[in-house]
Amino acid sequence: MSGQMSRQEFVRRAVGGLAVTAVLSACRTVTPRAVSGPGPSDWAGLRGRLDGTLWLPSDPQYAAAKSTFNSRFDASAPAAVLAAASVADVQKAVEFASSHHIGVSVRSGGHSYIGASSLNATLVIDLRRLPGGIDAGTDTMTVSPATDLDSVQTALASRSRSIPSGSCPTVAIAGLTLGGGLGPDARLHGLTCDALVSATLVLPSGDMLSASADDHPDVFWALRGGGGGSLGVVTSMTFRTFPVTDRDVVTVAFPTDAAAAVIAGWQQWQQAADRDIWGMVNITVGDGPGRCTVILATPPGSGPAVAGDMLATAGLSASSTRTRTLDRMDFVHYFEGGDAARAPRAFVAGSDIIGEMTTSAAESIVTAMAAWPAGAGSATAVVESLSGAVGDVDPAASAFPWRRQAACVQWYTEASSEAATGWLTATHQALGPASVGGYINYPGSGEPLARYLGPNVQRFNAICRTYDPVGVMLSGIGG
Ligand SMILES: Cc1cc2nc3c(=O)[nH]c(=O)nc-3n(C[C@H](O)[C@H](O)[C@H](O)COP(=O)(O)OP(=O)(O)OC[C@H]3O[C@@H](n4cnc5c(N)ncnc54)[C@H](O)[C@@H]3O)c2cc1C
Repeated sequence: MSGQMSRQEFVRRAVGGLAVTAVLSACRTVTPRAVSGPGPSDWAGLRGRLDGTLWLPSDPQYAAAKSTFNSRFDASAPAAVLAAASVADVQKAVEFASSHHIGVSVRSGGHSYIGASSLNATLVIDLRRLPGGIDAGTDTMTVSPATDLDSVQTALASRSRSIPSGSCPTVAIAGLTLGGGLGPDARLHGLTCDALVSATLVLPSGDMLSASADDHPDVFWALRGGGGGSLGVVTSMTFRTFPVTDRDVVTVAFPTDAAAAVIAGWQQWQQAADRDIWGMVNITVGDGPGRCTVILATPPGSGPAVAGDMLATAGLSASSTRTRTLDRMDFVHYFEGGDAARAPRAFVAGSDIIGEMTTSAAESIVTAMAAWPAGAGSATAVVESLSGAVGDVDPAASAFPWRRQAACVQWYTEASSEAATGWLTATHQALGPASVGGYINYPGSGEPLARYLGPNVQRFNAICRTYDPVGVMLSGIGG
């Protein structure tokens, strides 16, 4: 790999236009030298060395190969897409990208909010055909990075085990883990990345590296919550698993005008609740009936009593309460949201991290929702507590920094892009100082890395510079 080229210069050559502004937002300015990218004979040479399949823009399969879950990025124009069929393919691809000065976008599940697994002018390395599958032992599991969450949970549930997981059935384990991994197991078992024991990755040099608490601990630190698309291509991950139990899921609905009191009251109660009680608030505004619900997950048989305790402690009155007792896979399927959740769609989303959920912070979330424009469809805010086991890890002990904060708010809409992007900006503004950053797995476009990694950003960038000195790996997040 060229040792003469700076990280910034590499990135400048790798991507064009607006993306450069985003990626370079915290970097010093350099003057690019003219370097030509790979030509047809270079691509043909790479194609001839691969076990998998390489598609160029002229190939009829290219459009399907580069598509991602968020169809807002259907017009993305990567230089080529490789469906890697072996780790050797990944090594050859990153070496090729490094020597031809193009960036790499890695694709596992393809669910990046900002289209980061199919960036313009990059070589996309799609890991869905990588062998490995799921190898579940007594209390650990080794898994191929592009394995979807539903497959992971199904395989583990057959052994009465699980890992902390997110909600979407088709999100891949790699992207979820590399950004942290928030879900209904978080208060009891922590983030998905907290269950990571080790990982192997292909560095931009083409070399393999193993990372764990004892082996390249700096890389292991960065892989736990620093976000995907940095450092290298993760080709295998091993997790610690936990034994499953049935759970009650309680849906408590409230009048929409109680939303601020619900957020503040729920959060205060949740923070003090036993760790095996988890909850989130869901607020929907716009066309159709509004919604304000708290979803609780509790030990089996305790749902109604726990919901009653929340209502009494927070001084809230519910308009309805519904409890179901679910085994592990029904619990997983409940949060997945059914078959419709598998279908790609266009959406705009982002997030804020709430430092302290004061009354005024709760009110500012409601104010942000009220900024949703009339007649533009609907929008949702999902508030998840960061209390419990998430806080067992020191904020400096992994790249995921938000372990002493109150909650994560996700803003989400499938409405038209113009209304949505304006609203997303308005949500951040409405929160003002109540927000201390964002969650890197729920990124908005054009926001700097420091917003997601807070005090850990400098260490993360230093580790990236060590292993990827010229910035071959692109995450789509600036700075
Ligand atoms: C419908 C939906 C529901 C979601 N629910 C949750 C949830 O409950 N909890 C939660 O925490 N998050 C959730 N997410 C967010 C999700 O965790 C992130 O979007 C995640 O980054 C997706 O990972 P992916 O592998 O599917 O996507 P990709 O787009 O393939 O990857 C995301 C990023 O990681 C990089 N990356 C992927 N694989 C690798 C690898 N092997 N090596 C290096 N870099 C890699 C990519 O380059 C990209 O930058 C949800 C997303 C969606 C769309």
